[in-house]
Amino acid sequence: MPIYEYRHKHEPSKCKDPFEVIAAIKDDALSECPTCGQPVERILSAFKGKVNIFADSNLKEKGFTKLVKDHVKGGYRKV
Ligand SMILES: [Zn+2]
Repeated sequence: MPIYEYRHKHEPSKCKDPFEVIAAIKDDALSECPTCGQPVERILSAFKGKVNIFADSNLKEKGFTKLVKDHVKGGYRKV
């Protein structure tokens, strides 16, 4: 189950902010806080932190293959 992070659009809030919601992928995104009913927006976890998800090491970890054009032999090679 993925964990989504939400934050209140309007400050201040009496609730925990941001707060986390565990939801199935098929579930719709929350538009209001289940606690106070204020409008909330989802924080995309891909943009959280300083990790570059498209870095070579991350791509490899995620099972992606990056192809780089080989100028010496011609064609493409895997990196
Ligand atoms: Zn709230």
